[in-house]
Amino acid sequence: MGEFELIEKYFGRAPRRAAVGVGDDCALLDVEPGMRLAVSSDLLVEGRHFLSTVAPERLGHKALAVNLSDLAACGAEPLAFTLAISMPRVDESFLAGFSRGLFALAERHGIELVGGDTTAGPLSICITVFGQVPPEQALLRSGARPGHDLWVSGRLGDARLALEVFRGTATLPGSAFEEVRRSMECPEPRVPLGIALRGLATSAIDLSDGLAGDLGHVMRLSGVGATVDYDAIPRSTVLAMQSAELQRECLLAGGDDYELLFTAPPSRRDAVLAAAAEAQVAVTCIGGIDAEDELRFVDGQGRPMDVAARGFDHFA
Ligand code: ADP
Ligand code: MG
Repeated sequence: MGEFELIEKYFGRAPRRAAVGVGDDCALLDVEPGMRLAVSSDLLVEGRHFLSTVAPERLGHKALAVNLSDLAACGAEPLAFTLAISMPRVDESFLAGFSRGLFALAERHGIELVGGDTTAGPLSICITVFGQVPPEQALLRSGARPGHDLWVSGRLGDARLALEVFRGTATLPGSAFEEVRRSMECPEPRVPLGIALRGLATSAIDLSDGLAGDLGHVMRLSGVGATVDYDAIPRSTVLAMQSAELQRECLLAGGDDYELLFTAPPSRRDAVLAAAAEAQVAVTCIGGIDAEDELRFVDGQGRPMDVAARGFDHFA
């Protein structure tokens, strides 16, 4: 099977919302009047971002999910995406599973694949998503102010726990492993929450490199510090049964959570909870923003904790 037949069979779909989709030199998209275009890319490389053991269907899901998570963190509504993929050879069972997982998630968010590139090479996948957001309501990393509450969606750490099991540094009974493995391989992008937080959250970021590192990005861009109540960080019962050390690693330096970390004034607590209910996702207040540019951890009693954790850095 050649390049063009492959594209046609697995990735070619008639455009719906796009003015021009797959097949021409460029895709042409309409953005609603008054909206700003939100664009984000993520590159996934085998062995670095995913293991060769992942089912193709889950890989298709995750490749798009991590991109949609960036739109969610901006409060943007997804419109369309492109897919650049390199693979060593044409593996039709891989392509069938991959495209199934990819389009299933795309369909749920009402978005379409409008173009891309396909080449031979080591397996890697780069998706670019396009979304729209009202200019005044885009959620940025830079809006956190002292006194604001710090919130997180869902639960943290399970994806990292699954990775530790794959690495052989942790062991779990079968059903618990399947649960955390699902978190690692099938993250659910918090798009409805991001949209519900428009005009409400003062800053937001999606957690892809661990809470400590990603919160650091918000602190730096907002020029603030933060205090995190370590015991309040939401975690699964599976993770809560692990050693204190492993829990800390998974919760703070984990990565691959794809939950939203955001700030909002304390006066908007009820509105935040209402937004989360509308988006059907749990949110937890895990601390607050401070004026001094430092990241502090306290336990449930408010006692300072000595926690050294950094986010993931590909080149560190
Ligand atoms: P070009 O020569 O202009 O780069 P290509 O021959 O690479 O175009 O691709 C032909 C068409 O197929 C283009 O519209 C491109 O966007 C689309 N395309 C290529 N690969 C993919 C893919 N993996 N998914 C979706 N569309 C693709
Ligand atoms: Mg090309």
